[in-house]
Formats: sequence, structure tokens, C-alpha cells
Amino acid sequence: MLLNSQTTNDFNLKNSLQLANDIVIIPTWIQGRVSTKFQVGKKTNGIFEEKASLPEQQNNCLEAITNYKGRCSKCSKEIRLIHAGTSLAKGESGQNLDREDTEEFLRLAQEGKFQVLITNDSDRLARSRGTGVMIREQLKRMGVQIYSLSQPLPLKCPSCFDFYDDDPAIMVETMSDMKSQLDISKIRRNYKIGMPKRIERGYPAGSLAYGLLKKYKVVGKDSSGNDVLEIFYEWDDVKVGIVNRIAHDYLAGIGVWKICQNLNDKGISSPQGKKWGRSAIIVILKNPVYAKRVRFGWKPVRRGIRKIQPRENWIMHEAVFKRVWTDEYYEKIQKEIKRRGTVGGRTIMSQALLIGLLKCGYCGYSMFQIKTRRIFKNGTKYLFRGYGCGSFLHAGTCIHNGKAQQIVDNAVLKEVLKLANEKARNAYLEKINNVKTDNSVEIFESKQLEFKRKMDEFDRVIRAYKEGVDNLEEYQRNKEELVPVIERLQKEVISTNAQANTPQTIDWKKQYEDILSKFIECPNEKDKQIIRRILFQLIDKVEFKRDPLYIKIFYKTIPKE
Ligand SMILES: [Zn+2]
Ligand SMILES: [Zn+2]
Repeated sequence: MLLNSQTTNDFNLKNSLQLANDIVIIPTWIQGRVSTKFQVGKKTNGIFEEKASLPEQQNNCLEAITNYKGRCSKCSKEIRLIHAGTSLAKGESGQNLDREDTEEFLRLAQEGKFQVLITNDSDRLARSRGTGVMIREQLKRMGVQIYSLSQPLPLKCPSCFDFYDDDPAIMVETMSDMKSQLDISKIRRNYKIGMPKRIERGYPAGSLAYGLLKKYKVVGKDSSGNDVLEIFYEWDDVKVGIVNRIAHDYLAGIGVWKICQNLNDKGISSPQGKKWGRSAIIVILKNPVYAKRVRFGWKPVRRGIRKIQPRENWIMHEAVFKRVWTDEYYEKIQKEIKRRGTVGGRTIMSQALLIGLLKCGYCGYSMFQIKTRRIFKNGTKYLFRGYGCGSFLHAGTCIHNGKAQQIVDNAVLKEVLKLANEKARNAYLEKINNVKTDNSVEIFESKQLEFKRKMDEFDRVIRAYKEGVDNLEEYQRNKEELVPVIERLQKEVISTNAQANTPQTIDWKKQYEDILSKFIECPNEKDKQIIRRILFQLIDKVEFKRDPLYIKIFYKTIPKE
């Protein structure tokens, strides 16, 4: 993608300007591209920030244009350069965009907008060897010389430049191509094998944890006088502050939902640069990196799907960087996570039966637990346990919609118990089959199409990586974005297909009846967890309105086998 393509000269510089008889001024085009971070890293006080900087590439090139002084090796005329324009291509562009970008500056070359193309590095022209060679050859045939800052060769004046007589340039450029090609395959080969070794040395594997910064410093020179760089890791103070805030609030008993809301309210963005959500918080709380531990094999890819392993299977080593939490603090957090636990991915920290199922009938948001101390008219104190609208409790919108838990719980349980009666169950199933939405086939087909598109996109991502268009990190980033979407769509395709094609049934089991009726008569904590599991199996959600009292149960329907 062309981010920036401007011409500084209004007139068409079909031919270089000849000033007097012996100075040739050649219009020069800057080509910048982000590929490996390393090569475009910003150097401040001998430390490379891991930031791909296109402006920096442009500045380097502009400096070279201003300072270039040379003589044509054939006719000895003095050569000066003048900036004609710039193309800055972002590394993230896919193969097609990459081609568009290339075509654009080839067209400009054809039009005679420039006769020298200047880049930071020869491999900046294209990411794959094949494309690079092709572009270079086309440019040279148009009389454009390529000047690379990392392997500079003296320029000739345009009238002396001969495509077939440019051997020294070809030598250097071919070697640079081979080098970048080798680098890529080396990275790929070492990625898997090298991982446990990195861990043993205390270096993080895979993507960096939230708050951890990877930096480079110059530690000396090699035999050819190039800087030798060493990687080191540092914590970002601001992000560490956020991590500590999250851990502190979590241990103080604040719900994950509330923690997210506090962060989002302050305009702090999540590690993915989006709004904070439950999983981002849990990922941070579970990450041993904050307790000076690097881990491997905790989220291996099997058949294209990442699956988090139990902690016993992680390979862990002491990290090279500083700790944020003590080991005891980390363990305390893990204990709290375990204690809160989940049912169907929803929090069960709350003791109330219908939390996770009950939705406010006015705004549709989840209902939360209310616990308040109240006083009877006769003066005795009691604890009121109720449900209330989450929007009201947390954000002050909607209405209170509060009701005593026991009343709502019993009403729902009694309604569910009706399903124990064969007649009621069959009547219910008949009803949902009749109201089965007519567009269920359409929904299925659109999901299927969406799924196919994402799979095609995934194929393109894999191809871009195999062909060297995307580097490993770009590939990983794309993959991490796509895989969850594909997994979700796959599930949706299966469930919408089931809805479109098969009659539905409710998986009511005989033993449900006993435990539900027993619970209504004598509710106890031990049975509550069992009842919750039954309800989560049967029910999708329960809508609740207080005034006038309205309870609507949305049963889950399971395809007949
Ligand atoms: Zn010449
Ligand atoms: Zn509400």
C-alpha cells in the first residue's frame, strides 16, 4: 500500500537536468518498507527500540540525497541527487497490496519521474527474492539505478548507465537477496527447535507479555566492524502499574467485569489495543511472567488449534528480567482464580442460583446479586438477598429491577419442573418447532459463506508466509487474529445447520425432577451447584421484569441424534 507518494517537482523530469556542462542532477525516488524490525530499529544511545520506523528510513534517504557527491565513472561528470518523491509501504500489506505498491512505483519510473531509486537496504525493494529480482531488472531496463544505503555503489550519469554493463551492482544485490532469504528460513527453522533453549536461558517465548519490552543494545563490534547487538528485556512502568492495579483489585474481591469497566472508563486500552474484556484480565493474572518465570508448551498448537495446558505441563524457567510479583503473590492470585471458578465460562463466585442466566427484561443486560442489610419495621435487622439489573448497579442506567432471590429462584425452578411432565414437554417442543424461524436456512447459509471466506483468508495468510511475503511475526499476528474467528464460525455453522435441519428436543433427565423439587422445599449450598449445572444445561437465559412480574425462560434446544 502506498502510504505516501508525492512528487516534489511539478515538471516531469523525463531526463535528468544538465547544469552547465559537467554537473548532472538526477531525480531520485525514496522507497521505504517495513520488513524485519531489526533493520529499521531506532538507535538511541546505542539502544535499538523495537519500533519499525518508516520516517527514519525516509530521513536516512533524504540525508543521502542531500549529501551525495560523486562522479560518473565513465564520463567523470559530477553527479548530484534531487528528491523526486517517496513511497513508503507498510509491511503488513498482503501479497496483492504489495503488488499494487510495486506497480505504482514502476509506473512512476516508466513516466520518468526518477532515475535513481534509493532504499535503506537492497532487500527493502520486496520481501521475496523473486519479486526483488524482477523489480530490479524492470527498473534497470527503464534506466533507473538502485542506490542502497547499506551497500552503496557509485552512481553513473543516466546517459552512461547501461543495464547490461552493471555487473558490480548485480553482485551486491544478489548477495543481499540471498542473505535476507537465508535469514527468513533460519528464523523459521529455529523457531520451534530454539524455543526450549530460549526458555532455559530465561528469554520469553512467543509473543511478549503485556508490559514487557524487548530492546537491543550494542555490546561490541564483529570482525567486519558491524555492531554486535544483544537483546534485553525491560518492563514498561505504566503498564506494570496497570498489571498491579488489576491484581490488587482482583484479590480485593472486585469482579472481573468491574475491573474491565474501570480500565475502559479511564481510556486505557487492552493488550490488543481494544476494550478490556474478561479473558485479557485472566490472561494477565495467570501469566507467571510477572513472577519472573518464562513458560513454554502452555499453549501448544495441535491441528491448528491452540489449547491451554494445565500448569503441570508448562516448561518454566527463571526469567532474565526483573520480577513484578513475588512467587507468593502469584500463587495467591492463582488460588483466588481457582476459588472463583466458572460454570460454562461464567463466573460462579456469586452464591445466587440464577447469576449468569438471569437477564434484565428492560435492557437485556445480566442481572447481578444484591446483598443489603435492611431493618424490619419492628427494628430487627435482616440481610436482603436479591437480583438487580447490572446496568443499574454498575452504570446507573436502566432501572433497579430488584427482586428477592428466593422468589425468582422458586418461580424459575417450578417452571422448569413442569418439563418433567411428558405432556408439558411435548407441548413445549411442538411449540418451538412450529415457531422455528423460517430464515434458519438463510442464517445457516450466510454463516457457511462467512466461514468459507475466513478459511480462504487463512489460506492466503499461510501462502503469504510460505512465499516470504509476510515475515514470521506478521504471519503469527494474522493467525492469532483469524483462528478464534474461524473456530467460532465453525461452531456457528454446526449449530445453525442443526437448527435449520433437525427437529429439536430438550435433554431432560429423570433424576432432575427429584433434586429440583427437593431444592425448592429445602434449599442448601451443596445442592445449589448441582442445580446450577442442570439449569445451565437446560436454559439459555431467563428474562426478568419486576413490575408487572414477568419471567420468561429461553430453553436451550439440543439437536436430536
Ligand atoms: Zn557519464
Ligand atoms: Zn436493566
